[in-house]
Amino acid sequence: MGDKGRTFIVLLGVPGAGKGTQARRLEEELGLPQISTGDIFRYNLKYETPLGLLAKGYMDAGDLVPDDVTIRMVADRLEQDDCVSGALMDGFPRNLIQAAAFDAMTAPYGGVTAAPLIHIEDEEAIQRITGRRVCRVCGAVYHIQFNPPQVSGVCDVDGGELYQRDDDKPETVRNRLYVYYKQTSPLVGYYFAKGLLREVDGAQSIEQVQATLLNVLAA
Ligand code: ADP
Ligand code: AMP
Ligand code: ZN
Repeated sequence: MGDKGRTFIVLLGVPGAGKGTQARRLEEELGLPQISTGDIFRYNLKYETPLGLLAKGYMDAGDLVPDDVTIRMVADRLEQDDCVSGALMDGFPRNLIQAAAFDAMTAPYGGVTAAPLIHIEDEEAIQRITGRRVCRVCGAVYHIQFNPPQVSGVCDVDGGELYQRDDDKPETVRNRLYVYYKQTSPLVGYYFAKGLLREVDGAQSIEQVQATLLNVLAA
């Protein structure tokens, strides 16, 4: 209680910018757990929990799951033991209401530490999303061209089957970008005004983006 000085990193960027890829790599480097709200929803969907069934319609359409449900889910997640030093937020907050709720949740620990924005062009985002493949077992993220597994369709880590997310099909991708610009992009101004925004060129190799992120976080 009252232990200040936790580190909360909020990764910003369009769908496909590389937030999940970088969060997984930075977990070890920074000693912080990745909290991906999209991963938590997909896990719940896989096991057909009430939360998963509620989220499904919104996810299939590429819309945001309602704030009350999402905010409660994150608050619960932050209570877990692995968040004692903070967390790397991947896909949350996603609008100004969630950002205000996250400020309130993290205020006892010093609030948000930094908000790196991974910037890529929309065309690049579409290419990355449509070529994305995910491991059914561990959730590792690949790309059929840009980050292929050693054996096509098979996870390098555990041999799990790679699949394409339903919402990564072209029909849904356009709405997800629309939702980003309408609802999530105001967070860029929100964190800039707080002096927390850190801009990163996402159109570099995965390794270079990681190095740049570590640099801006250390600055
Ligand atoms: P986000 O979490 O922001 O939606 P992901 O981390 O899932 O994005 O990355 C989207 C896709 O782009 C994945 O297929 C991933 O392998 C690929 N990718 C991630 N970073 C890069 C990069 N720097 N260059 C090329 N492809 C990348
Ligand atoms: P992502 O894995 O981040 O691409 O998210 C996949 C989908 O999960 C989104 O299109 C939303 O439907 C839902 N989702 C993920 N994070 C949030 C959030 N913070 N608020 C509302 N919906 C979310
Ligand atoms: Zn795997």
